[in-house]
Amino acid sequence: MLVLGIETSCDETGIALYDTDHGLLAQALHSQVAMHNRYGGVVPELASRDHIERIVPLLEQVMAEAGRPLDSIDAIAYTQGPGLAGALLTGAAVATALAFSLNRPVIGVHHLEGHLLSPLLSDDPPAFPFVALLVSGGHTQLLQVDGLGQYTLLGETVDDAAGEAFDKSAKLLELDYPGGPALSALAAQANPDQPDAPVFSLPRPKLKSPDLDFSFSGLKTAVLTQVKKGLPTEHRPWLAREVEEAITDVLVGKSLKALEQTGLNRLVISGGVSANHRLRAKLTDAVKRWPKRRGPLQIHFPPLALCTDNGAMIAYAGARRLAAASPLPAGEALHFDVRPRWPLEELPAA
Ligand code: ATP
Ligand code: MG
Ligand code: FE
Repeated sequence: MLVLGIETSCDETGIALYDTDHGLLAQALHSQVAMHNRYGGVVPELASRDHIERIVPLLEQVMAEAGRPLDSIDAIAYTQGPGLAGALLTGAAVATALAFSLNRPVIGVHHLEGHLLSPLLSDDPPAFPFVALLVSGGHTQLLQVDGLGQYTLLGETVDDAAGEAFDKSAKLLELDYPGGPALSALAAQANPDQPDAPVFSLPRPKLKSPDLDFSFSGLKTAVLTQVKKGLPTEHRPWLAREVEEAITDVLVGKSLKALEQTGLNRLVISGGVSANHRLRAKLTDAVKRWPKRRGPLQIHFPPLALCTDNGAMIAYAGARRLAAASPLPAGEALHFDVRPRWPLEELPAA
């Protein structure tokens, strides 16, 4: 079955064609980062308008790359929420209209289920059950995943998301939005063994607490305090490094705690922050220190290109949902709605 995926929840227009027999055939992405950059964040109205302009050319590009005509599409999946209402409406309208004209089923996908399942698109996909660490720009959650739609929330951030902590700290360091990759690149310039290396020490919020919740807003305040004290330009890489270490220490610590509490030994990371190489390195290291008596620890990430928003994860999640649905959702109705706020736990089990 050939499933078209359409992602427009925020500032990326993502289109992809996923074949349930042969995997991902083609995908295209347009990021609006440059457009929103001068505002220091996403401007919702500009985002919707840009999706309108990009979506059809990207669709044509994907179909051409896959070498398939439009009418070879068997079903269409689009991001129904959560996200910016206007941006979501763009993708929903195109998906519904296309499904109507082709007379194919159309399915609304939960954006976070897309992220959550994206590691299943890797060459070495994890099996259920697993502990999922979902770390994106708007969310930081630990979940126990027993199957499609069987998600138990174990813990989540009580304030900022991990990606937000990266972005806000980066802004304080005068880096461009979105700051995660930029802060990480700046941090890589710091050599901790340099004799005159400045020493910064930021808090690891909630690292030692027995619960599985996170809190990152205090970290941002601590960075602000450092910056206000006067931060020489040449010291910026070391502060960036300490920010990255603090955030990833907490993410790793809490993930291992979640494995301990659930008794599981499979951890799956997803969302934009799962692209972070320090997070990947620390988790890979944790495998070596994992007690033998608990069986081998498996850690799975999405392919690097599929960590941040993309159409492939929406096509894939849609394909999984469709495979479990009976009867298939009808394609003839020209009705759709979006869900800008939509808790993941409200999804039904498949
Ligand atoms: P949500 O999925 O919660 O609605 P979103 O779609 O905006 O939010 P994603 O696209 O999954 O989030 O991820 C974007 C976030 O990932 C940004 O906060 C960005 O700074 C962060 N990010 C991306 N790459 C890296 C990296 N290499 N290191 C750290 N953070 C990163
Ligand atoms: Mg984005
Ligand atoms: Fe996202």
